[in-house]
Amino acid sequence: MLNIVLFGPPGAGKGTQAERIKDHYSLVHLSTGDIFRFNMKKSTKLGLLAKSYIDKGELVPDEVTIKMLESEVIKYPESNGFIFDGFPRTTLQAKNLDEFLKSKNTAITKMIALDVPNNELIERLLLRGKDSGRADDQNKEVIANRIKVYEDQTAILADYYRLQNKLVSVDGIGTVDEITHRLYSAIDN
Ligand code: AMP
Repeated sequence: MLNIVLFGPPGAGKGTQAERIKDHYSLVHLSTGDIFRFNMKKSTKLGLLAKSYIDKGELVPDEVTIKMLESEVIKYPESNGFIFDGFPRTTLQAKNLDEFLKSKNTAITKMIALDVPNNELIERLLLRGKDSGRADDQNKEVIANRIKVYEDQTAILADYYRLQNKLVSVDGIGTVDEITHRLYSAIDN
């Protein structure tokens, strides 16, 4: 199995690139943000709970997020592998993912980190907010908080995967195609 964690701050381009990687390697794309938004649209119990955190740019609690992610993974027992987009975001999530995959006799193959500087992120998110309809992309304070939460709780995960020799960094500045090709080389090498 090929299991990729696509890592990077909000606005780094994870969603766009994960869709391409999914098609190219025939993987299942699991985006925790997309699953939360789907539940918000349907006003499920999970969606209502997630909304109260997402609207502020905070993380949805680990317990809820981990349970949701695991219930998604088990829906695809025949898959070639997964591209995880937006998960894990905390050390507890990363540890749980490792244990969970181990219990399924598999593991994370690589974590690929998209490097994009903060000033570029804010511009990209505000631009995306104009047509995505995502409330959390339209408010400067919420965007600033998401970047802060990333720096405080998520960025440290690069070290977690570096210690396992699984971290590969990719320059996230360029055209969508250029970045896709860098990602393919990072996965193939
Ligand atoms: P994203 O679409 O990845 O930018 O995620 C949008 C929002 O969903 C985040 O700002 C968080 O509030 C929530 N979220 C997504 N993934 C996670 C996760 N792994 N852990 C906690 N909250 C998450």
